[in-house]
Amino acid sequence: MKSPRYYRHTKIIATLGPATESREMLEKLIAAGVDILRLNMAHASREWVTNTVQRIREVSDKLERHVAVMMDIKGPEIRTGDVDGLVDLKAGDLIDFHVRSAEPSGDEVLSVSVNYPDLPADVEVGQIVLVDSGLLRLRVINKDEHHVRCQVLTPGQLGSRRHINLPGVHISLPSLTEKDREDLAAGVTAGIDFVALSFVRQASDVQILRSFLDELGCDARIVSKIEEQAGVRNMREIIRASDAIMVARGDLGIEIEYHQLPLVQTELVRACQAEGKPVIIATHLLESMVSAPMPTRAEISDISNAVREQADAVMLSGETTTGAYPLEAVEVFKNIIESIEPKVDTQLNSCIVLREPKAKMLRSSATLAQELGNSGIVVFTRSGFLAYVLGALRPRGVPIFAFTDVEHVFHQLLLPWGVEPFLMEFSDDPEKTIQDALAYLKRRDWCETGTWLVVITNVLVGDKVIDSLQLRQVD
Ligand code: PEP
Repeated sequence: MKSPRYYRHTKIIATLGPATESREMLEKLIAAGVDILRLNMAHASREWVTNTVQRIREVSDKLERHVAVMMDIKGPEIRTGDVDGLVDLKAGDLIDFHVRSAEPSGDEVLSVSVNYPDLPADVEVGQIVLVDSGLLRLRVINKDEHHVRCQVLTPGQLGSRRHINLPGVHISLPSLTEKDREDLAAGVTAGIDFVALSFVRQASDVQILRSFLDELGCDARIVSKIEEQAGVRNMREIIRASDAIMVARGDLGIEIEYHQLPLVQTELVRACQAEGKPVIIATHLLESMVSAPMPTRAEISDISNAVREQADAVMLSGETTTGAYPLEAVEVFKNIIESIEPKVDTQLNSCIVLREPKAKMLRSSATLAQELGNSGIVVFTRSGFLAYVLGALRPRGVPIFAFTDVEHVFHQLLLPWGVEPFLMEFSDDPEKTIQDALAYLKRRDWCETGTWLVVITNVLVGDKVIDSLQLRQVD
């Protein structure tokens, strides 16, 4: 028998931007094997979303290779107001932040507005304030009702509308802003498959988004971004309330001690695997490739670590939005995944808690397929649930062929580890549906005559529908 076709389990997400939004670049990215395209609403307009999603779908249809679309909404974010050009700040300099259109303090101190009215109430004297991804480090030295005075600890330049992080401070901004709601309405009309929610602090943040999506009649899956201390503290309730998690290391690496980041990453990956929820490792995986054609050795090790930890997906941000080598970055991901995956321990996920009897049957199917060797699991799903659980079981070397007749579920199945989704009409006769699926897999070269496959399906017994696990050989 031929050796089995190489099968990539770890999925690839790429963020779109000026370097990749053209039809030509989209064709190349999708053909290169990207599974999910991310639209970052911190930088995108609603019109851009409408046009870009349409272009993605047209290119996918042309290539006959489909991708999912994830809208990443900005969430509650504190930003500085406008300043003239770039202001040089030296260690020891003073700077005032003022809120609610308060006047500058009148002293000879640089005063900059901030969009967060509760800033003076929420920060304490001595608190560290980080500006522009932590490049500028300040300490609060005094405050009144409308002003917060800081002293510069780490010097740098301050530009307009820079992001402010307040590590450990409970921010009382709403989890879903007016801008987020308007962005989502545009995204839902355009046909997004996932929503990534920024700065999730507790499970109720996810529930607020879910209710809003329900109001819009949208079934997009929710990816909660863990990027600050409350999110880390409440990770278990957030994971349970979410459909997937993103380890958003950009902000997380500022909000917690940087040397704790690998520990928190591992904790999040394991907690997601125990709950059977997909987990994405994001940010700075190939940062040097924004301007260089080859990764650093440290980046190669970081990606290998994500693959060894069995994350569901790895994500590119600046590398594919404005980077000079977006396609090369995707190739680097693929090459590292292809080298590392076959060497990872082949144990099934033993920490996942399977509650439903049908979910327990999936573990048997994974064991059986691994035992058979050169096999695969065929599953039919309308909600995606069975395929998500199968992916969470991590049956290494066993492709999970997930057939659905629901288009957005088909796209959403592009996220979980090891799942290869197919969109297909289901027949009223379950046997015909199975035969159609096996014929499709053979036609598309996913398996050859004689291959044994494990099939999870419903069968009709009289007027009863029962769950079954079957062994089928491809004709
Ligand atoms: C991050 O902080 O790592 C992240 C993915 O979020 P954003 O790109 O929105 O900053």
